[in-house]
Amino acid sequence: MTLKEHYSNSKKPVISFEIFPPKDDETKEKFQKLLGHLKTLKKYNPAFVSLTYGAGGSTQTNSFDMIKKIQSEVGLNVMPHFTCVCVRKNHILEYLSQIESLGIKNILALRGDVPCDCSVKNFDFHYANELVEFIKTHSNLSIGVAGYPEGHLECDNFMLDMKNLKRKVEAGADAVFTQMFFDNEKFYSFCQSARDLGIEVPIIPGILPIRSYGQLEKMLSMARVSLPEKLRIKLEKFKDNPDDIKKLGVEFATQQCQELLKFGICGLHFYTLNSSKAPSEILDNLRG
Ligand code: FAD
Repeated sequence: MTLKEHYSNSKKPVISFEIFPPKDDETKEKFQKLLGHLKTLKKYNPAFVSLTYGAGGSTQTNSFDMIKKIQSEVGLNVMPHFTCVCVRKNHILEYLSQIESLGIKNILALRGDVPCDCSVKNFDFHYANELVEFIKTHSNLSIGVAGYPEGHLECDNFMLDMKNLKRKVEAGADAVFTQMFFDNEKFYSFCQSARDLGIEVPIIPGILPIRSYGQLEKMLSMARVSLPEKLRIKLEKFKDNPDDIKKLGVEFATQQCQELLKFGICGLHFYTLNSSKAPSEILDNLRG
């Protein structure tokens, strides 16, 4: 099913999970372990699993293997991510035809961030809206794009960033998947701004269950994401106790999802960090 079909046909909120391919130099055991986590997550009937892409193509070989294995061994649909920095049009065409031949229906189209080892000069696309237009013209894929409830790090003008989001939707995007956020009010006003600008496609909140204090700090340093004061105080209190942080992460994300469900979101997209544990606990809490 396409993204459009998933979000318009389902009576319940659509569940999806993001994973990333283990690095080339990591063992096959990691692949198998990840497949095991996906088998666990399958019981929550996810519409698809989204698979990140190393900007510049660094994880591409693993991506194809992962897609095939997730489809054949786990029986889940995959939405691969794809970034357009450091690549040329002919490479993109080749990639699109390869994933379509694997039966893929959906793709998350991104600009990405230029990696330091990028050897391609003058790449063809500079922003994700150009990639969306290209994919729309050259494939039958349904396209998702990234959205930033607190604005993208490079853009200091929130409304300009929203207008740039609109460019992606006008170019043919069928759904917006957001960056993690911890303050639902930011998500609600992001949705309102999008609707005010005439962005009508589904906006799916990205949920990150906090797993470690250090990891969270690193992620926050690379994105424009604020922490509510109450959460910050609790994290500080538990920062030297990994088990308490994980417990807090699940409790916080459960409450966050409960409020988002009341708000009327059409889907929940979990950043799994390649583990089924926290998303399973959160989804069990939501069912319970
Ligand atoms: P764009 O939409 O192109 O925006 C980038 C910046 O340019 C913004 O500041 C925007 O305001 C501005 N802008 C956009 N269009 C224009 C225009 N036409 N003219 C002028 N300015 C413009 N990264 C990866 O490498 N691999 C992944 O798999 C991956 N998955 C992600 C999944 C999600 C859900 C999210 C939220 C992010 C993901 N990222 C991933 C990170 C993403 O690649 C970075 O945030 C990147 O910096 C921006 O990508 P984008 O597609 O949002 O870019």
